[in-house]
Amino acid sequence: MKFIILQADGMPDRPLKELDNKTPLEVANTPTLDKILQTSEVGSVNHIPKGFKSGSDVGNLSVLGYDPRKYFTGRSPLEAESMGINLGDNDTTFRCNLVNITNEQSNNFMEDYSAGHIATSKAHKVINFLKNFVDNKEYELYPGVSYRHILVCKNKTPKIKTTPPHDILDKNIKEFLPTGDDSKDIISIMNKVKVSIENFKIQNPQFKTEKLSDIWLWGEGKKTILPSFKELTGYSGSVISAVDLVKGIGKCAKLNVIDVPGATGYLDTNYKGKVDASVKSLLNNQFLMLHIEAPDETGHEGDIKKKIKAIEDLDSKVLKPLIKGLDLNFSEYRLCIVSDHPTPIELRTHSYEYVPYLIYQKGINLQNHTFKSFSEKIVENSNNVIHDGHDLIFSLINN
Ligand SMILES: [Zn+2]
Repeated sequence: MKFIILQADGMPDRPLKELDNKTPLEVANTPTLDKILQTSEVGSVNHIPKGFKSGSDVGNLSVLGYDPRKYFTGRSPLEAESMGINLGDNDTTFRCNLVNITNEQSNNFMEDYSAGHIATSKAHKVINFLKNFVDNKEYELYPGVSYRHILVCKNKTPKIKTTPPHDILDKNIKEFLPTGDDSKDIISIMNKVKVSIENFKIQNPQFKTEKLSDIWLWGEGKKTILPSFKELTGYSGSVISAVDLVKGIGKCAKLNVIDVPGATGYLDTNYKGKVDASVKSLLNNQFLMLHIEAPDETGHEGDIKKKIKAIEDLDSKVLKPLIKGLDLNFSEYRLCIVSDHPTPIELRTHSYEYVPYLIYQKGINLQNHTFKSFSEKIVENSNNVIHDGHDLIFSLINN
């Protein structure tokens, strides 16, 4: 038996008046999804335990069967893992965003959390310059992708509380600077870097127009230690995703993390490459999680048309050829379709509602139900409810 999870990141939504009080998932044309639904087990599931902030870090851990209450140690250590940074058990990681902070009448405002989505090659030039001023026995900067970098604080657990820069857009940063006993160190690094970036721009005039003035440190955490997926479930497997965070979770779980050329995490991703790699990975392993990011990104953009397109692509460019490939190659498989959290258009960020799931097995009717299409209506009307989302994977593999 092969087991597959298709993780449609952020796909569930809320009814929109622009869509006659329907959700993008209800409006989208999804013939393959609706067809396999007829013989699937369906229900609703919650991947964000009480007290946790809704996000792909907590959500994807839960989707893969890891209880976030036990295993979640912060977002940045998972990204660090994906970047190949060797963390010690006592190190603390911070996400280091390149950002733009503007000054008006001696007040400072968070103008852009992403330095205008700075190009990776440019960002590396900046980070490598900043390393001269930041790196020492205690701290080390590592360049990542675009505006997303990592600062490692070695052998120390600073007492500190930070705020994500995307949550304080256009706000005065004064009230959101790190707080806590050890915040002074982190604030002094941020201040030092501000001057270094000014100097960097003078030395490199081609950077003069970049929307870049500062770094912002947040998302602190300790190394994530997970039992391997094989220890957890008894099966070996793979993860396919365009997103560093999800790849990092895969690495921590000792799953094969497969890089697919052209995978972007957006509408222009290489869907065919991802589906082909999915089927191929199952020739050698029993489990696969295929992660599709576009429904989440288009939700953050607040673009209804694009979100519907992301869902229709998931149906026609992922699910349809995936089922075809699975049918051709494997006599027995079980496929679960689920999301880590909703990303409602009206909020442009993640929310906390339960999400619908289905489990499909070819040729077998797993449940009699009356649902005609896969949508949030399942959450409202199904009696199958999984409160602890990390249990879902065991429904899939033990059913
Ligand atoms: Zn997500």
